[in-house]
Amino acid sequence: MANNKKAFITGISGQDGSYLSELLLGKGYEVAGFIRRNAALDFGNANAIKDEVKIYYGDLHSPESIALALLDFKPDEIYNLASLSSPFASFSDKLGAIMVTGIGALHVFERAKIIVPEAKIYQASTSEMFGAPKQVPQNENTPFAPANPYAAAKEFAHRMAVIARNDRKSPQFIACGILFNHESPRRGLNFVTRKITAAVACIKNNKKEGIPFNEIGGPIVKNGKVKLGDLDAKRDWGYAPDYVEIMWKMLQTDSPDDFVIATGEVHTVREFAEEAFSVAGLNWKNYVETDPHFVPPVQTGPLCGDSSKAKKVLDWEPKTKFKDLVKIMVHADLAKFS
Ligand code: NAP
Repeated sequence: MANNKKAFITGISGQDGSYLSELLLGKGYEVAGFIRRNAALDFGNANAIKDEVKIYYGDLHSPESIALALLDFKPDEIYNLASLSSPFASFSDKLGAIMVTGIGALHVFERAKIIVPEAKIYQASTSEMFGAPKQVPQNENTPFAPANPYAAAKEFAHRMAVIARNDRKSPQFIACGILFNHESPRRGLNFVTRKITAAVACIKNNKKEGIPFNEIGGPIVKNGKVKLGDLDAKRDWGYAPDYVEIMWKMLQTDSPDDFVIATGEVHTVREFAEEAFSVAGLNWKNYVETDPHFVPPVQTGPLCGDSSKAKKVLDWEPKTKFKDLVKIMVHADLAKFS
């Protein structure tokens, strides 16, 4: 059921890029993806759909590679999902965060403006832009106060998107999704949720070899324990496939806008760990240790989103509940790390 529409996705090999591609292919879109060339020609999460999408090799560092892909593919919709997406890692590569996540987004907007001015653009903004907000829950009017380099870069991209949207002479259609944390079995292992579910699987399956690495380059499970940072950190965790649907919906409107996308439910890292270990029939207290190395230099949160605008305007609500999300992730990792 082709619909003659073309979508170009930066970051197609990431968690969201892969789910979004599947959604758009199902809607009959012609989909192209922009990925970084690597020696192993690894397509990451897009491996399963690599033959159904057109791959362009490039990098957000290179405006020329963006321009060449847009010139060739001429998309109707652009989803800018590429970024160095770990707030924790951004402290040790501040310039990388700014250049890819901030300036890289601007490169996409600027090349699109010249090459495909009619294309609608989705910009992946983030709840991390709220920092440690006084207002709970956060909505589209909550002030931004980024607490890490990643969030500062995202705020820059977000503000440039709004400026391009409001340009009186030649406005661009750029919609920004201020998405709260969303997870899945495709989440990077450097994020706490996936680190926990992978650890549960390695421990439950008594895995001795091929244990995945954590965010500081050591094995996720050592001596039968997993090390976590701040167990009291509070997050609003949704399920990624629910969230990519709203990216598409935001581009089906007549005028671009900002939308907070969240579940409105908050849980601590401790609660996530407790639930994940209990899915595998284990008591988390026997397997979790805390280590200040995993606590970011500046804390964010509590992050809890109010997505009533998205419900009202776009008829969107999250479908997957916290306990189901944890179950999905633990079961996937039990099979993966067997
Ligand atoms: P992800 O899994 O980390 O994917 C990031 C993607 O960006 C990967 O495909 C990565 O490619 C690509 N990338 C990194 N640097 C690049 C560069 N220099 N040039 C081109 N591509 C590059 O992130 P995600 O969870 O899917 O999130 C998608 C977007 O939403 C990101 O912008 C993220 O910051 C934002 N966001 C995510 C969440 C969340 O909870 N997941 C919440 C709010 C906002 P490689 O495979 O080569 O690394």
